[in-house]
Amino acid sequence: MTTHVFHRALKSALPCVAGGDGITLRDAEGRTYIDACGGAAVSCLGHGHPAVLEAMAAQARQAAYIHTSFFTSQAAEKLAARVAENCGGDLNHVYFVDSGSEATETALKMARQYWLERGQPQRAKVISRHFSYHGNTLGALSVSGNRWRREPYAPLLADASFIEPCFFYRHAEPGETPEAYGERAAAALEKQILELGPETVMAFIAETVVGATTGAVTPAPGYLKRVREICDRYGVLLILDEVMCGTGRTGTFLAAHAEGVAADIVTLAKGLGGGYQAIAAVVCSDKVYEGFYNGSGVFQHGLTYSAHPVACAASLAVQEVIVRDNLLANVRARGEDLTRALHGRFGNNHNVGDIRGRGLIQAIELVRDRGGKTPFDPALKLSQRIKAEAFARGLMVYPGAGCADGRAGDHILLAPPYIVTPADIEEIVSRLGEAVDAAL
Ligand code: PLP
Repeated sequence: MTTHVFHRALKSALPCVAGGDGITLRDAEGRTYIDACGGAAVSCLGHGHPAVLEAMAAQARQAAYIHTSFFTSQAAEKLAARVAENCGGDLNHVYFVDSGSEATETALKMARQYWLERGQPQRAKVISRHFSYHGNTLGALSVSGNRWRREPYAPLLADASFIEPCFFYRHAEPGETPEAYGERAAAALEKQILELGPETVMAFIAETVVGATTGAVTPAPGYLKRVREICDRYGVLLILDEVMCGTGRTGTFLAAHAEGVAADIVTLAKGLGGGYQAIAAVVCSDKVYEGFYNGSGVFQHGLTYSAHPVACAASLAVQEVIVRDNLLANVRARGEDLTRALHGRFGNNHNVGDIRGRGLIQAIELVRDRGGKTPFDPALKLSQRIKAEAFARGLMVYPGAGCADGRAGDHILLAPPYIVTPADIEEIVSRLGEAVDAAL
């Protein structure tokens, strides 16, 4: 045994990265890979961006680390102002952490303490959705409906309750319109709140666009608006997890902007630092912040590396480049190219049941038969095999396993950097097509 890194998969050898430039990574053997999933929907600017590298070096020279109980930094203050402005409305207060899981943990603790500050300690229940993913730490996993991730750790998880997600392709009745389905899916939330007792519910948490579990599932039209109304009716805080779909990935800074909905708390992570540093944020509304400000004045939380100056400087540079280079317009235009190319390549493939997503987060769902929507047996590990076939062809894609109970199929998620060109899109879909053919 010569390996010392405890890798995800202990028995598979990984190539060692040797370089990265734009949307491409290179390994030590000289092979190159198009990063069509930004690793895990992270690398929004691609690799090796000089403006980001320079900003990180400058910050490290000035002060590499401060603890947030002693100092703030210009980088953190400027980044918070920019994030708040981009979120819009009264989402004005930004708490920095280091990962999406920590952002979920922080959002849950923020919601809980908000109710304590407001003199409603009985509000402690969280409602989430099946087929959701909010992180791998125990608190975040407790509110995640992704079964294969949570089941081994079930004895360690906190209590949460789950409703059906909004998943038109899988859950709509024959002939049901997207609007009617969205209304029906949202009604499940009201039913659950009433069953639990509205005065005991502190928050509802949902991914605006579902990422890792079922792959680029956008909400049905009107669904989130109804969810917002229901939360307001019963005083429940709405937490939107935009760790994967936020910071421009769908073509608007928040995916919720396209839904016309404002959350009480939003979490951001992957595209915030674009992978240059580990950084995430929990953004809350004036209402939530004032609960703390007019109450104890202290959030009973804190992590050693919160608001790390180099991470904030990197993230600020990433967000500045996105604006300077008008990259959200590119996300929207290339997203349309991607939709077109996926339909062109897979539109007649009877093993591709659905092509979905928005902007540069899109997925194909694989099924035995398009008409019946029957998933492949998860034991076949189809999405993992497609990932391997793609990797062998110099393409990185993000696989998602189907469900053993047949309620969701394998999928392949694409989330390329915001800088992709039309030619890149063609190449990505062409290599993915070869990989799917080879794996089926
Ligand atoms: N929330 C969502 C929607 C995610 O997609 C993820 C990661 O994929 C997380 C939370 C957890 O983020 P992290 O892996 O940075 O802890």
